[in-house]
Amino acid sequence: MSEYPPDSEFELIRRYFAPLSVSEEGAYQLKDDAASLSISADKELIVTKDLMIAGVHFISDDSGRTIAQKLLRTNLSDLAAMGAAPRAYALGVALTSNLRTNWLSEFADGLANDQSEYGITLIGGDTIFSSGPLFLSLTAFGEVPKGCAIRRSGAQIGDLVYVTGTVGDSAIGLMAAMGELTKLPDWAKKYLIGRYQIPEPRVKLGKLLVGLASATTDVSDGLIADLGHICSSSNVGAHIDLKDIPLSSAARNACALDSKLIAKVLTGGDDYELLICVPPSVSTKLLNKAESVDVKLSKIGKIVDGSDVSVFSEDKTQLKFEQQGYQHF
Ligand code: ADP
Ligand code: MG
Repeated sequence: MSEYPPDSEFELIRRYFAPLSVSEEGAYQLKDDAASLSISADKELIVTKDLMIAGVHFISDDSGRTIAQKLLRTNLSDLAAMGAAPRAYALGVALTSNLRTNWLSEFADGLANDQSEYGITLIGGDTIFSSGPLFLSLTAFGEVPKGCAIRRSGAQIGDLVYVTGTVGDSAIGLMAAMGELTKLPDWAKKYLIGRYQIPEPRVKLGKLLVGLASATTDVSDGLIADLGHICSSSNVGAHIDLKDIPLSSAARNACALDSKLIAKVLTGGDDYELLICVPPSVSTKLLNKAESVDVKLSKIGKIVDGSDVSVFSEDKTQLKFEQQGYQHF
C-alpha cells in the first residue's frame, strides 16, 4: 500500500489509528461500532470538543505532527480548565487529496507523542474524504471527582486573578509565520511560531486546582474575552494591570518594535494558558501547587463588583481595545 492515499479507510484506521488505542480495552482495537468507557463510581466524565480547519487554526503546510499535537492539546487545555485528568479521545478527520505521502504517519506520531506525555488514549472516531480544506475534530474525555468540576461561574468579588505561563506568544507567532514582523530577530520568530504551533496545556496544574480555585478557564479566544466569560458567568467584573501581564522575552522584543502589539497579546488568543481565580487566603497554596509542577504563575489582577474586564496601564489610565478576542462570525 502506498502511504497516502490508502487502499481504504479501514486500512488507514488499522495502520495509523488502531495502534494508538491499545491501552484502552474498551476501544476494542477500533474494530467495533463504538467504544465503551467504564469509570469509577466516585468520578464523573468531563467532555469537550474542538474543531480545526486548515487556514484558520493551523497553517496548511504545517507538519502533520504539529497539527495533531495542536488538535489534541487544545482539548487537553479545556480538560485542564475544568480540573479534569485526561482519559480518552475520539478523532474525526476529513482528509484531502493534497496531503504529503508521509502526512498520516507524522500525524499519528504527533498523537502518539502526546498520548504518552499527557496520559490519554484514542478510543474511536470517524474518517472521511473532503473535497474542501483539511478539517479535523477531536472529542476528549476527562475525569474529575464527582461534583468537583471547576466552573467559570464561581468567581467572587475580592478573588485574585492569576494566569499561567506567558500570554500573546501564539498570536504574535502567527503574524511572524505570515511574514509580518520582519524586524524581529530569528530566534524570537522561531520561538513564537513554535508557541502557535504547539501549545502547552496546563494538565498537571489543572488537576491540582480542584477544591482550590473558585473559577478557571483557558485562554483560547483572547485573555480579555476569556476573562470576560468568567465575569459574565459569575456576575462580576475584573481589573487587570497591564504591567503584570507575563510576556516571554520574544514577545517583549516584538512589543518593543511595535507597541500596538500589546492589543494582540490581550485579545489575540490561542494561548491555552489557564486563567485562575482564587480567594486571597489560598493564594500561597496555589503558588506552591504551581511550583510543584513547574508552572510559572503571575497575578494579573482581581475580581471586582461590575460586569466588565478593565485593563489599566501603570499610570492608572484605562486602556480600550477594538475587539476583546477572536470571533469566527
Ligand atoms: P461507521 O461506519 O459506523 O462510521 P467506521 O467504519 O467509520 O464506523 O469506524 C469503524 C471503527 O473505526 C469505529 O470503532 C470507529 O470509532 C473507528 N474509527 C474510524 N475512524 C477513526 C479515526 N479517525 N480515529 C479513530 N478511530 C476511528
Ligand atoms: Mg459502524
